[in-house]
Amino acid sequence: SSVGDLVVVSNRQPYTHSYEATDDGREITVSRPAGGLTAGLDPVMQETDGTWIAWGDGEADADVTDENDEVRMPPESEAYTLRRLWLTDEEVEGYYYGYSNRVLWPLCHGGTMKAEYVERYWQRYQQVNRTFADATIEAASEDSLVWFQDYHFTLAPRQVREAVPDSTFLMHFWHITWPGWDTFRSCPNQEALLKGLLGNDLLGFHVERYCKNFLDCVDEALEDAFIDYDGNRVNYDGHTTTVRAFPMGIDADSIREHSESADEAFWSEFKTDHGIEPDTRVVVGVDRLDYTKGIVERLDAFERLLETRPEWREEVCYVQKANESRSLIPDYQDLQTEVQESIERINERFGTDDWQPVVYINEFIAQDELCGLYRYSDVMLVSAVRDGMNLVSKEYVAAQVDDDGVLVLSDQAGAYEELGEWALTINPYDTDAFAETIETALTMDPDDRGDRMAALREQVGSQDLFAWMDDIFATADELREKKVAND
Ligand code: UDP
Repeated sequence: SSVGDLVVVSNRQPYTHSYEATDDGREITVSRPAGGLTAGLDPVMQETDGTWIAWGDGEADADVTDENDEVRMPPESEAYTLRRLWLTDEEVEGYYYGYSNRVLWPLCHGGTMKAEYVERYWQRYQQVNRTFADATIEAASEDSLVWFQDYHFTLAPRQVREAVPDSTFLMHFWHITWPGWDTFRSCPNQEALLKGLLGNDLLGFHVERYCKNFLDCVDEALEDAFIDYDGNRVNYDGHTTTVRAFPMGIDADSIREHSESADEAFWSEFKTDHGIEPDTRVVVGVDRLDYTKGIVERLDAFERLLETRPEWREEVCYVQKANESRSLIPDYQDLQTEVQESIERINERFGTDDWQPVVYINEFIAQDELCGLYRYSDVMLVSAVRDGMNLVSKEYVAAQVDDDGVLVLSDQAGAYEELGEWALTINPYDTDAFAETIETALTMDPDDRGDRMAALREQVGSQDLFAWMDDIFATADELREKKVAND
C-alpha cells in the first residue's frame, strides 16, 4: 500500500538516548524499540521517511536533537525524523498521570468510581494535546497520513483537522476499551472528547462492540451528529469519520523464534533458580501490574483450587511475572500491596519445605526468557476484568511451538472475540468455576490440547501485527481514494 509521508503521534517514543559519564566525557547510548507496535512501525517509518512525534521522556540534549528537538533515527541509517516534545513536570503530572491514567483509563475500563476529575488534570491534558497538535500541523503536508495512537490524544485530531488541508488523512487507533454510554455519560468532558476524536477520518478499535459503544456515545452526547450504523460512519460538523474494528495482532514469528531458542536446559535452569521441583506443573500469569488485569481474582482462584482439591498441593506452582506500572498513582500502589498480601497468604497457608505454591517474579526478564516461560508453562491464566485486547494471551499462543499448552482466557478481554472458541474461558469473578477451569486445563488430554492450540496458533499467526497494519493502511487508502473521488 502507498503509505506515503507517515506522521505518527504517540505518547512513548520509539528510541531513547541515555548518557553515562566516562573518563573522557560521556557515552551516549540509544535504546531500540522493545517490541510490539513500536518495533512493528519502525520499518514502515524507515521506508516512508516519516516523522514520529512523541513525549521526550528523559533528558533534553542539544548534542542529540536539533533546535527543533528533532533527531534522525535509527542512528545507522537516519531514515526518518523523531521529534521529541519536552513536557514540564506539571504537564506530565496532569496530562499523563492525571487525565490519561486517573480519568480516561478507569473510565474506559468501566471504573467510573475510580475516575478523579481534578480540574488541573483536564487543563494540562488540553494544553499537551495543543502542543502535540501544533507539532503535527508543522510536520504534516497535504499528502500526509497522520496516525494518532491511543487515549493520550483525544483532542488533537480536531485541532489538527481544523488547520490542515482536507487531503491530509487523519486516523487514530484506540488501544483500550470504549465503554457503553451508560458509563461514558458520567464524564463531564464527554462532548470535547467525542468532538476531538471526530476530527479523524478513520477511528479504529479492537472489536466491534467498542465501535458500537462509541457510536452510541456520539448518538447520545452530540445532538448534531448523524450516525450511519450500517456504514459505521459519523458525520459531524461537515466531516465524516469512519469507525472500524481492527483486532491488533502480535509479531508471532518473532515470538516463535524466541520461543524456539529456549531449550530444555533453559527450563530446568529456570525451575532450579526459582525453587521449582523438576516434576512440578507450572501455571503462569504475565501482566503489567494493573487493576484491570484481575490478578487478585486469579490468585483467589488458585487458592480455591488448592483449598478444594488438596491432591494438587505440591504438584503445581503458579508463576506470576509482573511488571510494575504507574507506581506514582495510589490505586496502583494499593494493588501492589494487595497482590503481595495475597501471595504471602497463599504461600503461608499451603507452602511446605519443598514447595512454594506461588512464585513472584518482579524483575525484568529478557524476551528469550519470557518466551521460554510461555513455552514450557502448562497453562496460562489471563483473567482481566476488562482489557481492550490483551496481547499477552496471543504471545502465549505464539510461543506454543510444541502445541501442548492450555490458554485460560477471561471473557472480558478483547482477545476473547478471536480466541474464545478454542481457549478455556472464565469469568474472573466466578472463583469456583475459575478454580475448576484451572483443573480442567491441567488435566486436559494431549489430543484435545494439541487441537485447540493448533487452531489458536493458526489464528494468532495469520492475524498478526503485520496483517493488522496492512488492514489499517489498506482501509486508509480506500477512504482516501473515495475522498478524492467525491471532491
Ligand atoms: N510484558 C513484559 N513483561 C511483563 C509483563 C508484560 O514484557 O512482566 C509485555 C508483554 O509481553 C506484552 C505487553 O507487555 O507485550 C503487555 O501487553 P498487553 O496488551 O497484554 O497489556 P497492556 O500492558 O498493554 O495493558
